[in-house]
Amino acid sequence: MKSLALTQYRGALECIETTTPTPTGSEVLLRVKACGVCHTDLHIWDGGYDMGSGKMMKMADRGQTLPHTMGHEIVGEVLAAGPDAEKFVEMSRTYLVYPWMGCGECSTCKAGDEHLCPTPQYLGVLRPGGYSDHVMIKHPRYLIDIPAIPAEQAAPYACSGLTAYSALKKLGAGRRNKPILIVGAGGLGLMCLSLLKALGGSGAIVADIDADKRDAAIVAGAMLALDPRDNDFAARTREAAKDGIHAIIDFVGSPASWDLSMAILAKGGTYVMVGLYGGERTLPLATMPLRAITLSGSFVGSRRELIELMGLLRTNKVDWMPIVKRPLETAYETLSDLKHGRIVGRAVLVPS
Ligand SMILES: [Zn+2]
Ligand SMILES: [Zn+2]
Repeated sequence: MKSLALTQYRGALECIETTTPTPTGSEVLLRVKACGVCHTDLHIWDGGYDMGSGKMMKMADRGQTLPHTMGHEIVGEVLAAGPDAEKFVEMSRTYLVYPWMGCGECSTCKAGDEHLCPTPQYLGVLRPGGYSDHVMIKHPRYLIDIPAIPAEQAAPYACSGLTAYSALKKLGAGRRNKPILIVGAGGLGLMCLSLLKALGGSGAIVADIDADKRDAAIVAGAMLALDPRDNDFAARTREAAKDGIHAIIDFVGSPASWDLSMAILAKGGTYVMVGLYGGERTLPLATMPLRAITLSGSFVGSRRELIELMGLLRTNKVDWMPIVKRPLETAYETLSDLKHGRIVGRAVLVPS
């Protein structure tokens, strides 16, 4: 099998050939049909996450070894299954992969929250992922049925779709019935706009510093898309929302996006941070009770939520996000384009 692997942090990805593995036990081997390129991959490429004060959470300390094959938004076709998986999968069938695998044994995993397992085994992060023509899945429960949509449209739902869906669910239906503020109109922000509409939400105002992304947000159904650096940003946002901003989903997660959010969130409001830009901020503690705000972190979503999301796709009209289809061999260039903000929508790698 051929994989575009990270052999050195911050280096160009290298095309490596290895023997295609044979599934044993409960394993399932897929032929990759599409794999999304996510911002998380940039953090992996970088070697870790910025934890503020010059500190970094290193991927190597989390158990990642090089060479590593990234890619966690995978759609693939079943090629072979181990003896314990055979009766649970259909050969040649195309599935979306739930990549946020846990140990499968702890109480968190048993409760269905594998994505929050203290000893994660995330596909494409800690196990070999989908920047490849083949991928091995450790159990058939991670294979999710998808509606009849192209593989490259379905792939981003494993991370960006699931992340946006889980963040919207954390707001609850009550909060979604008033205009919300979405910070960041990259792939996740656009996905969030389409899912908000499908969930019957009343709409969103979008903040992004990039004019092309603001245009894409308007096309995706935003009520208003503004540059947060504009002096009248807060006034125009409040005017559009009429009753103030009671819910914010921050897909950037930077000191600047935090400052912007804290300045505009109404009393009693909910702020959900999803973005992993990193850095640090202090918070006057008395503002928590005095403003009665809820601050919530959201990391991808559960397998149950991904199944729910596929159900939503089947029953409600969901606007497809713009997809930039690229050959697998261009993984490194695609990653660079993402890093420099040159991708509008979601880039998806397709093996030839
Ligand atoms: Zn676990
Ligand atoms: Zn991702």
